[in-house]
This record gives sequence, structure tokens and C-alpha cells, in this order.
Amino acid sequence: MSNRREFIVQVSLGGGALLAGSAFAQGTMLSETDKQAVTLGYKADTTKVDKTKFPKHTVDQKCSNCVLYQGKASDKAGGCGAFPGKQVAGNGWCSAWAKKA
Ligand code: SF4
Repeated sequence: MSNRREFIVQVSLGGGALLAGSAFAQGTMLSETDKQAVTLGYKADTTKVDKTKFPKHTVDQKCSNCVLYQGKASDKAGGCGAFPGKQVAGNGWCSAWAKKA
């Protein structure tokens, strides 16, 4: 009986921690003015990328088809290996872009 109660308590605590964990994992949206974002030329809209600075960039290159993107291709935003703890826009781009195989 007491084991069962303990089990329920653990499950509910664990569930709460899981929820909190996933909210944390999502992170905050990366700002274009973030220091690292500026360094990598990140734009939340791939069509706004500076053509002069990044002549090899094309508008079909975006976070959602980048190998470092942790979201699904259809997600509006997702994590990125280049910006730990932040969310980048699926339609964004930065100079670390590399085509997802
Ligand atoms: Fe987007 Fe890829 Fe740059 Fe991350 S590394 S911001 S997913 S283009």
C-alpha cells in the first residue's frame, strides 16, 4: 500500500520535472542582436541575409533544412547546435548553415 503511494508520488513528481525540462529545453528565441548571432550573421528571415557579406547564401538555405537544426522541418522554430539553449526560426539562416543530408 505504501509502495503504491510512493510510486504515485514519484510518477507525479517525475512528470512535473519532465514538463519543466521540456520547457527549458525549448529555450528563448535567439535575437539577431545576440553577440554570437551577429558573429554568424544570423537572420530570423533568410530573405533578409546580407548578400554583400554572404554572397554564397541563397534563400532556399534556411534553418529548417540545416544539419544543425534540432526541430522538425515543418517547425516554426527549434533548437540549433550553434546556439545552445536558444530557439532559432525555421525560416532563419546563419553562416554556419550546412545542408541536411
Ligand atoms: Fe539556422 Fe543552421 Fe545557423 Fe543554426 S546553424 S542558426 S539551424 S542556419
